[in-house]
Amino acid sequence: MDRRAKLFLLLIVFTLIFSGCKKEEVVASDTLIHKDLNGIEMELLNQYDIEVELDYENKTYTGKQWVTYVNNTDKTLGEIFFHIYPNAFKTLDTLPILFKDNIEDPLSYDNGYIQLNIISRDNKELEYKIIGEDSTTLSIKLDQPLIQGQKAKIYMEYDVKLPSPMDRFGYGKKTINLGNWYPIACVYDEDGWNLDPYYSIGDPFYSDLANYNVSIKTEKDVVIASSGNIISEVIEDDEKVYEIEGLLIRDFALVASKEFKVAEESVEGTTIKLYYLDEKSNMVKKSLEYSKQSLEVFNRLYGKYPYGVYSVVMTEFPSGMEYPGIVFISEEYFRYQVVDLLERVIVHETAHQWWYGLVGNNQIDEPWLDEALATYSETIYYKEIYGEEMGKEYFDYNVKLGYEYGVQYLLGKNMIYQSLSDFYGWDDYGILVYTKGALFIDEIKEMYGTEVLYKILNTYFNEYKFYNATTKDFIDICERVTKSNFSPLVDKWLY
Ligand SMILES: [Zn+2]
Repeated sequence: MDRRAKLFLLLIVFTLIFSGCKKEEVVASDTLIHKDLNGIEMELLNQYDIEVELDYENKTYTGKQWVTYVNNTDKTLGEIFFHIYPNAFKTLDTLPILFKDNIEDPLSYDNGYIQLNIISRDNKELEYKIIGEDSTTLSIKLDQPLIQGQKAKIYMEYDVKLPSPMDRFGYGKKTINLGNWYPIACVYDEDGWNLDPYYSIGDPFYSDLANYNVSIKTEKDVVIASSGNIISEVIEDDEKVYEIEGLLIRDFALVASKEFKVAEESVEGTTIKLYYLDEKSNMVKKSLEYSKQSLEVFNRLYGKYPYGVYSVVMTEFPSGMEYPGIVFISEEYFRYQVVDLLERVIVHETAHQWWYGLVGNNQIDEPWLDEALATYSETIYYKEIYGEEMGKEYFDYNVKLGYEYGVQYLLGKNMIYQSLSDFYGWDDYGILVYTKGALFIDEIKEMYGTEVLYKILNTYFNEYKFYNATTKDFIDICERVTKSNFSPLVDKWLY
């Protein structure tokens, strides 16, 4: 047997082995492209291993989830808490969606929920309770106390039904949005456990950085867009299994559709994946351009986006929404008539990768912190991409004028620093947290200059990348960089 024949035989064997299932290695790039962990110790992060079977037709899924929970608190824990957000969709009363009034016929509302089947630790079933006004908090009693620094591997099995509104969590005619769809550990901070419900305004989420391995089994023609990096797609008969890795992210979201097409663009080591619906293919070029420009500007000014993939997803959704490594953008914005809005929303949600994703914050108690920075990042983007004049024009029209107009209609207190439960409603929240918040950031620029503001944002990013930061942390950095006392500014703007 000569070498060529041997090679030929090897080739046949190889073909036989792999003809049963089709494996596509789809690694576009590394999951992390910048290895600077900013002091984070990987083994001290919670680890989520989730196996999902998504029934695309019936709008349901089952989950098997292993959470290696690390007790990073300062005390021994007898119980640990998780958010189980799908339960907020059980009734119209607690439905946490943006445009509730748009549900034409409340009677036709198809609800959603999570049903927990098993919760165990080392094959021993654990006692648990579902608590909270909207049944979105899960309290798990540990069989043995978990002392500081130790890990507990909790296993859960659940069945979930998706609701009909096309919001962060729900299904439409063409897409299924899975935001806040699995049990995620509540944050324990200096105030103890954060057990807030799924408020119906803002982005009422607060979570710790974690690592994820998620596998999704579904019909073979379903395309998945997700947080993290799709490592492989294996098709076997009529099914497809996605293996996805997410490192150093604080949540994991995905969108599924049989109609998705994907366009890609590379920027500074990151692959931008634009998932689009075919009838909007004429907007692909523009969308990729806005995504690319946003990443370039924020990479340069704030610090490097550390992930290998960034997914921008056109979906059935009323607006824009950020999750780590992925943003949901309403398909309604992908039209030439509203191309300015499309650009603005892509820029805003991309800025959230820095403010919320990489530098986290308590979005319930201090929602202004990430929203004001994401909103002001729009002005920074317009100035950096289109020049000083355009930046000023954008700010004057969208922020200054927007505030002057909106402030007349405030129903509650004219105060930026409020927690979600204190805002009067979406309108007050929007005008204060986004618009007035951005005015505050602009005043810092007016007083100290553009370069100093950039230095503040860059320092804030580099110090708090991969951590949760507070308003105090941000103000401390402002004071340190400007070498001045910020109390008068804080009193004027935040309170
Ligand atoms: Zn935002």
